[in-house]
Amino acid sequence: METIRTIAWMKEKSREARLDQRKIGLVPTMGALHAGHLALVERARRECSPVYTSIFVNPTQFGAHEDLSRYPRPWEADIEKLAAANVDGLFLPEAAEVYPPGFSTYVHVEGLSDRLEGKSRPGHFRGVATVVLKLFEIVQPNYAYFGRKDAQQVRVIQHMARDLNLDVQIVVCPIVRDSDGLALSSRNAYLSPEERRAATVLHRALQAAAAEIQAGTRDSMRLQRALHKVLDREPSARVDYAEIVDAESFEPVVRIGRRCYALLAVDIGKTRLIDNMLIEPEGDALRVEL
Ligand code: AMP
Repeated sequence: METIRTIAWMKEKSREARLDQRKIGLVPTMGALHAGHLALVERARRECSPVYTSIFVNPTQFGAHEDLSRYPRPWEADIEKLAAANVDGLFLPEAAEVYPPGFSTYVHVEGLSDRLEGKSRPGHFRGVATVVLKLFEIVQPNYAYFGRKDAQQVRVIQHMARDLNLDVQIVVCPIVRDSDGLALSSRNAYLSPEERRAATVLHRALQAAAAEIQAGTRDSMRLQRALHKVLDREPSARVDYAEIVDAESFEPVVRIGRRCYALLAVDIGKTRLIDNMLIEPEGDALRVEL
């Protein structure tokens, strides 16, 4: 596997693959790779060749008081994992090349970027949309792979791709969880053993809402109460939001009749965790996907 450190070299590789009519797959990440990232890579490997993974801890999506400097950067282990997964290339640029002095152009997906995760983390989705558009321009992927774990992020990217007529298919992949239900995340490494046990509360809350849905509940207030009932029993959990929203607009819904998400953002100690459940009409019933 080749490690590509400059934008010019990455562009050159992509130009060659495009000229050969090959299908380029891109898996953008911030590194500290786990089985969730590797599931995206496997899917990309099945559908594309070549497959590139990018690792870039994007400074513009971190708030001033967030964890940019302490975000884990185990590059050596990441390189081994990607090589074992048969990725064709790792794009590992320097922040100074991605954001040269005087950089001043940003992408803002209005509305969608300002709710929920965007409201709690002002500027976050502006940073995400900007860097993802840059990665698309540099790597020129036919397909780009994202996890449903970051449901609002992938919606922002889909919206940007539509609005700006981007020539890339956005592929959304399922959430990969640990055996006790906790969604895998690079930030789980921050959790103490005690917090790690408490962190399963997100999955337990979603399961409680899923049970309500299976019992026939369509009313989102009742589902929110079911979420809070579980979350409020966990002393180290501080809920930022626990909401039922439309899967396209991310606006709150009163009654579930369309595709929706149950979305959670919860601080466990000092670590912010997010998780969600997809709720989808299937005939007269609702199907849930954790
Ligand atoms: P990150 O490195 O956290 O920016 O994540 C890179 C990509 O991996 C994003 O598209 C995430 O949604 C995806 N991802 C992270 N964790 C998971 C997971 N547990 N399951 C599936 N995809 C994930």
